[in-house]
Amino acid sequence: MTAQIIDGRLVARKLRAEYAERVKALTAHGRAPGLAVILVGDSAASQVYVRNKVKACADIGIESRFIGLGAETTQATLLQTVDDLNADRAVDGILIQLPLPAHIDIRAVLERISVEKDVDGFHLYNVGGLVTGSTVFSPCTPYGVQKLLEHENIEVAGKNVVVVGASNIVGKPTALMLMSQDATVCICHKKTRDLAQFTLLADILVVAAGVPGLIVPQMVKTGAVVIDVGINRLPDGRIIGDVDFEGVRQKASYITPVPGGVGPMTVTMLLHNTLVSAERTLAAAGG
Ligand code: NAD
Repeated sequence: MTAQIIDGRLVARKLRAEYAERVKALTAHGRAPGLAVILVGDSAASQVYVRNKVKACADIGIESRFIGLGAETTQATLLQTVDDLNADRAVDGILIQLPLPAHIDIRAVLERISVEKDVDGFHLYNVGGLVTGSTVFSPCTPYGVQKLLEHENIEVAGKNVVVVGASNIVGKPTALMLMSQDATVCICHKKTRDLAQFTLLADILVVAAGVPGLIVPQMVKTGAVVIDVGINRLPDGRIIGDVDFEGVRQKASYITPVPGGVGPMTVTMLLHNTLVSAERTLAAAGG
């Protein structure tokens, strides 16, 4: 068996074209959706991520506002900035680029964002909502995984899903989202003993460990769907995932490449959440 490759760039392009139409409709109603992006400090990697998000917004007509704050910014100043954006009617989404400098309490800042503008889905309300089904915004990377499965018409209900990685931003929310779609879910992490005994049970295997080449063909059931969230930069500059792509594609039914799989979906879902926030605001105003 050779797996069908899930082309995340293609899916992202299609979705962004659809979102661009919705942005156009909203703009015709009065104003473009607005996303505020806050960056504290001058990490080169964070600057690249922020630039990508700002450009992705511009490409589909979302107005982004970049707020760059010095690394020495106090927590009080950052909280005040968030308060101002919460009150700003032109802002539908607020994103704080992580990580933040060590002197800032990340949770306090994330909890300050209005739940209705928490387009990253990191506020405790939105995290808890993944358990109860009342989340306002799903976190972008797990949502991107869900959208890829939907796009390929891969049924989730009743499937064995194994998620390798238990972080708050990827592994745990992915597991919760797929569980809420009636999958039987198992989460593995770095203390899991004999990872293969779990991964071999997976009809759908989602890998988000940040360990290059962690998943080899012997760990994958024939015909499984394999979603590789990992992004690892090798010393020679190449980017690879957590899955031995060439080996596992001979065994899986579907597989995502890295790059070009889940990656392009993350920013796409940020655009989606910002758009939906603006649509909700318009609907609430009776538009
Ligand atoms: P993290 O470091 O916060 O969490 C990693 C998780 O993997 C932990 O739960 C850890 O216990 C587990 N893990 C580590 N080694 C393991 C092993 N040998 N076996 C089993 N589990 C193991 O990382 P994260 O933020 O969740 O990101 C995970 C990966 O996904 C990284 O490569 C990151 O770059 C990538 N990522 C990609 C996107 C995207 O848009 N595609 C978004 C976020 C993160």
